[in-house]
Amino acid sequence: MSIPSSFIERLIASVNIVDVIGRRITLERKGGGYWAKCPFHGSGEERTASFKVYEDTGTYHCFSCKESGNAIHFLRKYDGVDFIEAVEILASQVGMEVPKQEVAIDTSVAIKINNRAAEIFYEQLKSNDGINTVSYLKERGISGDTAKFFQLGYSANKKPSLYECLEKEFGEEDINESGLFGKNDNGDLYDRFRDRLMFPIRNIKGECIAFGGRLIKDKKDQAKYLNSPETKTYKKKYELYGLFEIRQIDKRPDSIFLVEGYMDVIGLYQHGIKNAVASSGTAFTEEQLRKILSYTNSIYIVFDGDEAGYKASWRAAENALPLLREDTRISFIFLDSDDDPDSFIKRNGKEAFLNLAKNSKSFSEFFIETIKEQDNLSSVEGRSMVARFALPLVNKISNDTLKQAYINEISKICDLDLSKVIKGETSIKKKNTQQQQEEVKTNSSSVLRKSVLGIFTALIQHPKLANLEEFDLIQKESKFTFLRDAQDIYLENFETPASIILEKIENEKIKNIFGEALVSEIKLSKEDASSMIRDCIELISQSNAEREEILKEKYNMQELTSSEKRELQQIILKKDKMSQEEAALIKNLSSN
Ligand SMILES: [Zn+2]
Repeated sequence: MSIPSSFIERLIASVNIVDVIGRRITLERKGGGYWAKCPFHGSGEERTASFKVYEDTGTYHCFSCKESGNAIHFLRKYDGVDFIEAVEILASQVGMEVPKQEVAIDTSVAIKINNRAAEIFYEQLKSNDGINTVSYLKERGISGDTAKFFQLGYSANKKPSLYECLEKEFGEEDINESGLFGKNDNGDLYDRFRDRLMFPIRNIKGECIAFGGRLIKDKKDQAKYLNSPETKTYKKKYELYGLFEIRQIDKRPDSIFLVEGYMDVIGLYQHGIKNAVASSGTAFTEEQLRKILSYTNSIYIVFDGDEAGYKASWRAAENALPLLREDTRISFIFLDSDDDPDSFIKRNGKEAFLNLAKNSKSFSEFFIETIKEQDNLSSVEGRSMVARFALPLVNKISNDTLKQAYINEISKICDLDLSKVIKGETSIKKKNTQQQQEEVKTNSSSVLRKSVLGIFTALIQHPKLANLEEFDLIQKESKFTFLRDAQDIYLENFETPASIILEKIENEKIKNIFGEALVSEIKLSKEDASSMIRDCIELISQSNAEREEILKEKYNMQELTSSEKRELQQIILKKDKMSQEEAALIKNLSSN
């Protein structure tokens, strides 16, 4: 899938970078700017904050490791997502729809097949075949409107099969990859879902990507619930059943209930709780929690009150640790062991369910309670066991203030000073990365780097200097063409925001140099800026001569890579005069 760059530009202009970064690390407002300890270098134990977020330019910069970028860069690095995912996260946060320039090659057919299947199931529910399923839904108090809202369906077990319906429209391989079919021993495809109430699982855009299917009557050797397997459109750990649907009602609800089953989401909806989502057949993952937290600041995690529910809730708590922030509320609701949200609300009504939320257990309460239960706190051995259990967990908290608060709390419980232990543990591990960063820094702080920095600084402060003729001296094929690219962007529009230029720079090092230029404290007059550009470009073009020497040397050692061969050819070809020796060299370079 490729996304039009005009959309990326609008997106970057619409998101508030302080909000995006502030959701993930602790930002402190200081002197009109936002500062943090850099999440990309060091141990988080630095005394001074070196990472600054610039609300007006939509960028961030670390004065220590020089890491720079915009909101998309931050998400890619910090969340570890790819470009498209980062764009989608940001777009959903500001309620923008990501347009596709071309139809997505790899998932569009799979989505079409699942969408088509959802239509077929929906029609079958309304047909005579669906009578039993409809009366099942009625028995459970689900209205026709609710069924329609969730696009519930029925997978009939008769001819023509779903496979026979789809094979006229789609290719065998695509059908096979849709997740809707199994393969028998003869290699024939058969309908995975037969005689089941069908729950289409839709992504945030409303496209059907998978299904859950429930038996209406118990059958021997068949699971009550069956889900689509993971496919290229359906990655369980990211998806939430009902999220698309509840966002039709409220794009940014005050809170979201996270429940275990499809029928819980639907039952709650039927009784007026229109902000519940379910994980589909997995424990609640960090990715799902993160996704929910980009739509609301408050999550109620609802569990059945049995042993399995408690275990699942603890796993959810562990997954939530890296996401905790001061303004994030995560609470737990435990039902009685024979209850689920659907049965509870059906019996007790909406108000009673909302009361559960009022009396829910806060994250910290649940966390501390569980930690205390790990061993006997009246013995030294027990207390140190509890500390050992708690330490790695607390280390997962990325918000400094909260981390400190938890360390203090657990230190009290265990009667030990854990802050020292935690510091000792992390500083050893992180020192190595810091050393690495130092090395990178010294290697790259060459004259050329400074020249590039100078040119960027001058251009950012005086974009109209992009008109300077000196830019023509930078050869199109040289490794400095990115400077011409930046020049072109400014020539097109002198008011292009810096965050958008950052987006267009692909090379990580250059992006960081641009970021550094962006935050430069040096204020240049137009004259100074213009001579800075002239001098720096001269330095860079001189470096071509040096580069030529280096490449020729490597050629003699037979160490040229194919791209270096091309580079050397270009350098020679651009000369006004070519020596005989060079002519021969060109010939040799092209022949192998
Ligand atoms: Zn840094």
